[in-house]
Amino acid sequence: MRGWIGLGCALAVAAGLAAAWWAIRGEPRVAGAAVALAGVGLVAARALAARERDARARLFVSLADRAVDGVVLFDLSPDIYLQSQREGLRLDRIRHLVISHTHSDHFHPYSLQMRAEPFAHIPGDEGLTVWGNAFVHRRLEGLADWDAARVRRVTVEAGRTYPVDPVTRLTPLQADHFPEEGCFNYVLERDGRTLFYGLDSGWFPEASWERLRAFRLDVAILDCTHGVEPNLRNHGSVASVRAIRDRMLAEGIGTPSTRFVATHFSHNGRALHHELEEAFAGTGILVAYDGMRLAI
Ligand SMILES: [Zn+2]
Ligand SMILES: [Zn+2]
Repeated sequence: MRGWIGLGCALAVAAGLAAAWWAIRGEPRVAGAAVALAGVGLVAARALAARERDARARLFVSLADRAVDGVVLFDLSPDIYLQSQREGLRLDRIRHLVISHTHSDHFHPYSLQMRAEPFAHIPGDEGLTVWGNAFVHRRLEGLADWDAARVRRVTVEAGRTYPVDPVTRLTPLQADHFPEEGCFNYVLERDGRTLFYGLDSGWFPEASWERLRAFRLDVAILDCTHGVEPNLRNHGSVASVRAIRDRMLAEGIGTPSTRFVATHFSHNGRALHHELEEAFAGTGILVAYDGMRLAI
């Protein structure tokens, strides 16, 4: 019977996620065209004010996913189903899925498999485009009939700018992370606003700094995996977030109105959420939390 129960649970999860892609669950709890949600931290959304949650809620940290305008989703973690239900994110309305790299906290191919037949059935499906490197797309091979599922796959290169839709452009940049397969950070330009998704990464390679100088960021999302540990490579820390913020301001990549957000916290950071807030006190740097929303 244990095996039957386990299978039942697995099917329940699978059916639930397919339903999330299929959108049979009705309208999201947070209505509006500009919903966003977050994983380890940030979710950027237009026209929604920053929302505070209590300290207890901030102890809950799920994996890395962030949505912009309910249309562009950065990364697809194993937590995406929970996050989509909790935050009212309509996965069937996501048009672009942007993957940083293949580490399992950022990319769970089987969650995307749930978007395809025989799991999900999306009326009037406008399709989904997956943006990522060759290793990302290799993980998807054979998992579904992606053409039938209207899932387009685009392999991107660092430094190039890609038109995503009439109001959106995407520029991948090489991160300081996972050299075996590579990791991209991304600049997303949308409707005249510019967001930088900087995970996972330590101190950026000089070529990425050079490319970043072409942008004026409204929001910079930065890796703070190592918290109060003095880490600058492969992943970030309080020290690297502050140093990156300072260099961005010095080089005009950021301005006094740029919002800097630290996120991707882990046990390796040796700090609870309120201790991270103390570590960033007086800097203006925001400490992300699950379900955080930013109007850009
Ligand atoms: Zn990683
Ligand atoms: Zn990560």
